[in-house]
This record gives sequence, structure tokens and C-alpha cells, in this order.
Amino acid sequence: MTTHDIAVIPGDGIGLEVTPAALEVVRAAGRRHGFTCQFTEYDWSCERYKREGAMMPPDGIDRLRGHDAVFLGAVGAPGVPDHVSLWGLLIPIRRAFRQYVNLRPVRLFDGIESPVNAAIDLVVVRENTEGEYSEIGGRMNRGFPGEMAVQESVFTRAGVTRVLDYAFDLASRRRGYLTSATKSNGIVHTMPFWDELVEERAREHPGVRWDQEHIDALCAKLVLGPSRFDVIVGSNLFGDILSDLAAAVAGSIGIAPSANLNPEREFPSMFEPVHGSAPDIAGRGVANPIGAIWSAAMMLEHLGHPAAADEIVAAIAAVLAKGDVRTRDLGGTAGTDDFTRAVLTLITEGR
Ligand code: ATP
Ligand code: MG
Repeated sequence: MTTHDIAVIPGDGIGLEVTPAALEVVRAAGRRHGFTCQFTEYDWSCERYKREGAMMPPDGIDRLRGHDAVFLGAVGAPGVPDHVSLWGLLIPIRRAFRQYVNLRPVRLFDGIESPVNAAIDLVVVRENTEGEYSEIGGRMNRGFPGEMAVQESVFTRAGVTRVLDYAFDLASRRRGYLTSATKSNGIVHTMPFWDELVEERAREHPGVRWDQEHIDALCAKLVLGPSRFDVIVGSNLFGDILSDLAAAVAGSIGIAPSANLNPEREFPSMFEPVHGSAPDIAGRGVANPIGAIWSAAMMLEHLGHPAAADEIVAAIAAVLAKGDVRTRDLGGTAGTDDFTRAVLTLITEGR
């Protein structure tokens, strides 16, 4: 039997509640599909930061290196600035393991109320290692009249090309349509470069229809007519904004999954729900586990079990369509465990 060695970082807040739910679903899928997963838990979190002054130990990256994949719940805590969890854990992992693709599928499931009344089935491909999220820049003349801040973006030919190629390939395996998010009318160096590379890569993928949209117009179109989108590719910042917007349009941030992929598989990839630690509802057993469970399904697909992954997503869809078991963010009264058990029942029965 195949065994996968998974690093698990439950993190903080509802991360501690949705992670066990996701792992239980993975175990059940493994029993049906003939694989097992060995989970090694790491307590890296904002709680650890408060105790020890760091999100993870100095050799954290090396300890993750040997695993087949990393599963992360959520990190964040009141009183700990967001940049601590971002720069102390998430960004180092994404960069060290060259997880340059951040994949965020968005679907409007039957039975979910959405602010828009339209079918939605799209994937946001976000560039995950460069772009606007750079450390280059600085603050000058602090406290003086000429005070200013400068923040540089970094777009490399290699970095943009590889994420575009991933997005075009993905589109060719889906409905064959790619939309590139740009802003080359206002951002006059990096965005025209991005656009040129999109045109160049498009020539290598003649089977994919493509378009580009300015980020502002694209946000409006995602709300007004999301059905026509298939794969949307964007820079680190644009991809981040688009995926939260798309997740909200699809009903709840609690549903949205994500994968931080190293497509070449030189290093482990990392799977995590899009939502944060949600301190406002943490510890009450009411968090929606769908984002975590769907992220775990993406992990199984990456590990070579597409049938198991499809079955998990189908089980989520079936429970939502039936409508009797829903968490509060979706207008129901069910808890995390109730929803998880409903999904487990369908998987165990092979439905
Ligand atoms: P963090 O600082 O960790 O990012 P946050 O509160 O800023 O936390 P989220 O955790 O994403 O951001 O929460 C945003 C809102 O969505 C909160 O009101 C939260 O309760 C709600 N929410 C997020 N995830 C879920 C979930 N899985 N189930 C139900 N509600 C959720
Ligand atoms: Mg937040």
C-alpha cells in the first residue's frame, strides 16, 4: 500500500478545528482507495510566536523538506500583526519550496446562496513567489515634511513564464479559456512586461483562447457575470484580491480551498484553506470545514489520487445540495463535526 508522509501545521484559531476534520476525511478516502497517510504534526503558530518569539524553529524549512506535502490549517491571532505570520511562516515556505503557483478553485455549489445569481466554476492561478510582495523598498524622511515610502515590485521573465505556462496548461485541461489580469494602463513597466509574456506564452498554447482584462474591470465582471470565466491568471497581488472576491461571490470564505504548488515536485507543496484563523468564532466548533476538506482533496490529487479527490468534492457537493447539514456561515445550524460526519458517511458508503 502507498504511504504518504504529510507534515501537518494546524496553526491557530479555527485551524485547530478544521484540520482534524480534513485529516479524518483523508483517512477515510485512503481506506477506500488503498493508500495511507502518515501525519507529523508541528505546533508552529502565532501561539508559538507569543511563547518563543518565532512562528517556527530556525530549522523549520529543513524539517518540512523530507515530507511529501504540507497541510496547513490557518495562522493568525489577535495581537500578532499579520506580517508576522506571513513573513515568519507562509512566505518562507512558499519561497523555499518554490511553490510558485497558488491555485484557488471557485465553484458555486447547488444549495448555496450567492450574492450573484449565476453558475460559477473557475480557477484563479496566482503567482506566488514574486511580484508586488517584495522586501525591496524603504521609508524615508520619517517625521519630516518630505516623508515617503517606496515599494518595488519584482517580475522576472522566468518567474512570470513558469506561472503562465502552468495556467495555460490548466486551461487546456479545462474549458480552454484563460483570462490574464493586468493594469498596464497605469503600471507602466511591470504590467506591459507581464502582457508581453502572456502573448508570448499564448503562441505556445494555440489550443487555449485568451483575453486580458484590467484588474478593476475584471473585479466588476466577476460580480456581474462570473459564468464566462474558466482560468484567471494574475500576479501575486491581483491573484490574491481576485480569489477572495471570487470566494465571496461563491457564498463564503469558509468554502474556499488553495494549493501552493511546486509543479516540478522538487519540494513539498502546501495545501491550506483560504480563510484565516477566525478568532471571532474559534473554539466553538462552528467553523465551516469545507475549505480545509477541499484543500485536502487537492493534496490527494497532487499525490496521485484524483479519484479520491473527486469523490471528496462530490461528497461536499452532495451534502450541500441536500441542504440539511450546513454550517452557520451558510445559513445553517450545523457544527464542524456535523458537516464532517455527513461527508464521511457518503465517502465510506462510496456514494
Ligand atoms: P486572520 O487574521 O487569521 O486572517 P481574520 O479574522 O482576519 O483572521 P478570516 O479568518 O478569514 O480572517 O475571517 C474573516 C471572517 O470570515 C470572520 O468573520 C470569520 O468568522 C469568517 N470565517 C472565516 N473562515 C470561516 C469558516 N471556515 N467558517 C465560518 N466562518 C468563517
Ligand atoms: Mg486576516
